[in-house]
Amino acid sequence: MPASRRVTRAVNGVLDLAPRRGEVSLARLVESVAEDRGRPIELKMAELPPGVCGQWRQYADRDVFLIQQGLPAGDRTLAHELGHLVLGHEGISVVEAARDLTEFASSDLIGYMLNQRTGCMGPSGEDLEQEAEDFAALLIYRLGRLPSDRASIVQVRLGEAFG
Ligand SMILES: [Zn+2]
Repeated sequence: MPASRRVTRAVNGVLDLAPRRGEVSLARLVESVAEDRGRPIELKMAELPPGVCGQWRQYADRDVFLIQQGLPAGDRTLAHELGHLVLGHEGISVVEAARDLTEFASSDLIGYMLNQRTGCMGPSGEDLEQEAEDFAALLIYRLGRLPSDRASIVQVRLGEAFG
């Protein structure tokens, strides 16, 4: 299924932030997005509950992407979480999440973490999960075709537009 215009625009927006020189890795792109937003994004490997690939935690002063340890497709998960972030899928407030839990989340957690989004693409993913998946697929595809110098990126774009 082709990605929606919204997803394509978001991917283009992220690639526009890519450094002009040198190799553009996914981690480097995440850094560029963080610089652009003026909010640090931390990447962490973590032992998440079984079946969970990644989690996006939003704190007052930074964002944290937790990636399930030992995941074969860690890049894909990172791109997926980045998709949630740039597409504005805020997730749910930790205070609200805590209300649904039988055990109360620690007050520390509630004090510092604003929102979180936990998940993994299942067979019947919700729309936002699908959107993040489309973003991840397109971003990784485009990254793989990215020439290392910026001038050629523009040519690739033009080629796509007229091709
Ligand atoms: Zn997700």
